[in-house]
Amino acid sequence: MGSSLDRKFNTMKKINIRNDLLNQYEGRCKYCKDKLHHKNATLEHKKAKSKGGGNNIENLAVSCYACNNSKGSLSDGQFENIVRKLNVKKTGYILAYIRRRLNLATIRACKRILEITK
Ligand SMILES: [Zn+2]
Repeated sequence: MGSSLDRKFNTMKKINIRNDLLNQYEGRCKYCKDKLHHKNATLEHKKAKSKGGGNNIENLAVSCYACNNSKGSLSDGQFENIVRKLNVKKTGYILAYIRRRLNLATIRACKRILEITK
């Protein structure tokens, strides 16, 4: 019961933070500047959680799903540089595609190694 209330509270908090950030970023993705709506905006950690970034609002931004998904553990500065250099509107989708292909290739290679070394 308590944990369900906690979850509800956290969800509300998240929605509030996201709305605040949407205003702060003028309704656009921090990286590709695509227009965001309440439904496609994602909360983004400027400094990745895996790199010690926290959930505090100073470390959070709003981004589109593609950018959020592609950024991974890169810092916001590093990812912004990539987006700027490539100057492609949908860099996020391209990066997400490349990452997916790389992941699949890695999994295939690992399976092979396991088979060879059986
Ligand atoms: Zn974006």
